[in-house]
Amino acid sequence: MYDVIIIGSGPAGLSAAIYAKRAMLDVLVLEASYMSGGQIVNTYEIENYPGFRSLSGLDLGNAFKDHAVAMGAQILIERVKSVRRQGEAWTVETKKNIYEAKTVVVATGAKNKHLGVPGEEELSGMGVSYCATCDGAFFKGKEVCVMGGGDVALEDALYLARGCTKVHLIHRRDEFRGAKVLQDAVKNTPNIELHLSQTIAKINGIDCVKSVTLTKLDGSESAELACDGVFIAIGMEPVTSFIDDKSVLDERGYIVAGESCETAAPGLFVAGDCRTKQLRQVVTAAADGAVAITNVEAYLRTAQ
Ligand code: NAP
Repeated sequence: MYDVIIIGSGPAGLSAAIYAKRAMLDVLVLEASYMSGGQIVNTYEIENYPGFRSLSGLDLGNAFKDHAVAMGAQILIERVKSVRRQGEAWTVETKKNIYEAKTVVVATGAKNKHLGVPGEEELSGMGVSYCATCDGAFFKGKEVCVMGGGDVALEDALYLARGCTKVHLIHRRDEFRGAKVLQDAVKNTPNIELHLSQTIAKINGIDCVKSVTLTKLDGSESAELACDGVFIAIGMEPVTSFIDDKSVLDERGYIVAGESCETAAPGLFVAGDCRTKQLRQVVTAAADGAVAITNVEAYLRTAQ
């Protein structure tokens, strides 16, 4: 039986792994796929992680992983199907194995929200994308739409504007949620056109995107906008469906815990973006990993 199983290998999970090895805990890290590493591996540029003025998310994610592995953390690629309490311990079930641990740290982060409009699923990977830094290069010299008004949508629009002839930024309200500095940059980029107080009602095309149908939120005034790609950046939802005890989740699926990262279930901890918290950033995810393991240690001491 492990002292702690950490689920997820983004900044929160790998920070927890580093702290767990330093605390000489018997730790296993489970990650869903080779491409795991959390949202940062798809982030083109990170400018707000202290100590690094600017680096790619992939480089920072790899540095976290190298550090955890150098500390001796064991990382297995197995997608977790369920986490449940059994007596005093926790059972973590993957497709291949069933593991037991005294404690679990859930650090599975969040995944992209979908718009849920006709054409979105059908054209996913054929012009519809959720990652500008992954797929933007395919649209060099072309015209694209970005849907959303948060930091990610604004950053995506700026990134795509470097290579695309035109970027249509579509947002459902008349003011952006994203940072002022990004808003200013967007407004000062000549090939970004704003379409405010509108949303995408339909994505059109067969085998590739040809256009989007825009509507006002009351459903009126629809217009068709020709484009070659659609980047959807409307936020994230937590990856927590594998947790059996739904009483630890809030109404949006986030795991309820304060700054201590302890949940209401004894021995179950949460770190990073899947926790109820104010600020979801790399630096706060990494901090959660450290706090969670510190409280795992305290829990293990009292449980002995
Ligand atoms: P976000 O801040 O939640 O923004 C989501 C945007 O999508 C909002 O503008 C929202 O509109 C819109 N939206 C949500 N559901 C929609 C729907 N069904 N239809 C149409 N529009 C919809 O998400 P995010 O941009 O992915 O950012 C996630 C977190 O990461 C944030 O806390 C952000 O600050 C952080 N982040 C930070 C940095 C950085 O510091 N460099 C970079 C990237 C992300 P409303 O505004 O009307 O709700």
